[in-house]
Amino acid sequence: MATVSLRACEQYEPERLREAMEEAIRDLGGWKAFVSPGERVLLKVNLVMNKAPDLAATTHPLFVETLARLLQEQGCEVLIGDSPGGLFNQEALRRIYKGTGIQKAAERAGASLNWNTEAMEVENPQGKLLKHLTQTAMLADVDKVISVSKLKTHGMMTFTGAVKNQFGTVPGTKKAEYHFRMPQSADFADALIDICLAAHPVLCWMDGIVAMEGNGPTGGTPRKVGVLLASENPFDLDLLASHLIGLEREQVPTLEQAYRRGLGKASAAEVEKAGEDPERFVQKDFRMPDHIDPHLMRKLGPVGRTLESWLRPKVKFHHDRCVGCRACYQNCPAKAITMEGRYPAVHYHQCIRCYCCQEQCPKNAITVHESKIMKLVNRL
Ligand code: SF4
Ligand code: SF4
Repeated sequence: MATVSLRACEQYEPERLREAMEEAIRDLGGWKAFVSPGERVLLKVNLVMNKAPDLAATTHPLFVETLARLLQEQGCEVLIGDSPGGLFNQEALRRIYKGTGIQKAAERAGASLNWNTEAMEVENPQGKLLKHLTQTAMLADVDKVISVSKLKTHGMMTFTGAVKNQFGTVPGTKKAEYHFRMPQSADFADALIDICLAAHPVLCWMDGIVAMEGNGPTGGTPRKVGVLLASENPFDLDLLASHLIGLEREQVPTLEQAYRRGLGKASAAEVEKAGEDPERFVQKDFRMPDHIDPHLMRKLGPVGRTLESWLRPKVKFHHDRCVGCRACYQNCPAKAITMEGRYPAVHYHQCIRCYCCQEQCPKNAITVHESKIMKLVNRL
């Protein structure tokens, strides 16, 4: 049986979307392999920020609506939820559900939205770094979790997909603590893998119909790829999705760490595929975040990883675009930002280069720039 199905879907058009999802689930053995009638299922979507669906930062509402309808036809009760960055309270959820189109999608499908903002402590024996972690209590309200991620680049982790999507099962501000405790990308990748194992999605979907390239996960540009992916294995799904945007395992910390831990495969070629030929969707010139040169990091190998904290780029604030909303200041896990009057200022000796500030800035007023050492290395 294939572990990943790819199906063509050129646009967010209800009939084709439904057909493509039905084809994909058939490729994976049918719904009965994943859910049973009467089960309560969480669609763990990506609502990283309050952005309109056509900006491609969040899972498209029609994708979520179609999936909810298909699950209801299997006799399941559907809950839709995420814990985005920043405050995790009902007011913040209300704004984000409305702005991302998810509220209307849930209404149309007759699905419920999550309003539970409580946290719970769980044991995670499979974890490497997080043997004990904090999750949102919405996971306790359901029988099964289905991940519904978006194909995007990511400033810190190069790529975000099924594994990184589970970071949204950690309550809002707790995310900052995990960033702070694990500032190196390899450690943070291990933490993300631990969080994914604890959330244990039984099935993972990826919305790659319109992806995000460039400065993802919130400040990039929409890019049509025309594909949806489904898999019971988040590592296989991410490996194949990364291949579609020109990345190899070593260039994506979550994939590299999963491989080292015996959870992931060495390359996309090893993944059992069904549906369309993946090569049909490969994007030769998919833009990475401005500051990321994954090829160079790979060339530097272990040396690069050791020097990572010196090589990693710096954030820069652009006052001409800044509206003084304080989102960067409030979301900096390292408390490296202070507000100086209306504008934020960064204290580099404290900065852990997590780029949460860039991710949370609603005005794209934060950019990331190569360090002087990296510039020198690049010239060699
Ligand atoms: S200043 Fe930005 S990149 Fe640096 S630690 Fe704070 S949020 Fe992360
Ligand atoms: S999040 Fe962006 S707009 Fe808001 S204060 Fe920070 S830099 Fe300015």
